[in-house]
Amino acid sequence: MQAAAAAARAQVLSENFRGIIKRIEVAKEKAGRSQQDVRLVAVSKRMPASDIKALYEETGHRHYGENYVQELLKKAATLPKEIEWHLIGALQTNKCRDVARLIPNLWAVESVDTKEKAQKLELGRKLLRSSNQEAEKLRVYVQVNTSGEESKSGCDPKDAVKIAECIIRECENLTLHGLMTIGSFEESTAEEENKDFKKLVGVKEEVENRLRECGFELQKELELSMGMSEDFEEAINQGADNVRVGTAIFGERPR
Ligand SMILES: *Cc1c(COP(=O)(O)O)cnc(C)c1O
Repeated sequence: MQAAAAAARAQVLSENFRGIIKRIEVAKEKAGRSQQDVRLVAVSKRMPASDIKALYEETGHRHYGENYVQELLKKAATLPKEIEWHLIGALQTNKCRDVARLIPNLWAVESVDTKEKAQKLELGRKLLRSSNQEAEKLRVYVQVNTSGEESKSGCDPKDAVKIAECIIRECENLTLHGLMTIGSFEESTAEEENKDFKKLVGVKEEVENRLRECGFELQKELELSMGMSEDFEEAINQGADNVRVGTAIFGERPR
């Protein structure tokens, strides 16, 4: 890209980003949550690495979300190590081990929806940590299909507890960090309370209660990862701790 075009792009991205940060602050205020942290994950899937680099350099923002393992591996190899990657896309079991092993600055995998995937991530992170003392445990979110749509990944709400238990009991190199959902498009554009977000809040309570009954002490409450460009303000209103915003920062994605 020409220098002038690159500078203009960097400007657009940082303005969009700052606009979203403001809207998050306003949403927190309205929800009476101004003292709480809501993390913004800038979803950069299918956008060029140059966009991420520009946004990082302009704003210092570290949390970026990617959907595809191959694309993430490529980007992580070239972009600054300070970036904290979130893998948020539908995950294949056979890719889990590598992604956990090969990317030390993978901050979280948000799309764990089977025990097998958790176990493979555990294996990969264990290998990484055996050779790299500095590598952290990998945070994971259990993805829940709250809308019941065939097309969405995520576990059945009733299976979230057993996946969570598996992570805590069997996966020493993972940290159960929270629950994630996407929700239906209809709910994301409805004016009222989002039923899918409400469902995730319910599943979180169930999982926390069950884990306590089993004698596990949670270091802190589980996080709720919910809300995207169309619905992140409502998600914050309903308790989101982590929102994933792509289009509203980077613009429409190339096909
Ligand atoms: C693409 C994607 C997002 C971001 O969606 P936008 O509508 O572009 O903000 C968030 N979460 C997941 C799981 C995604 O796949």
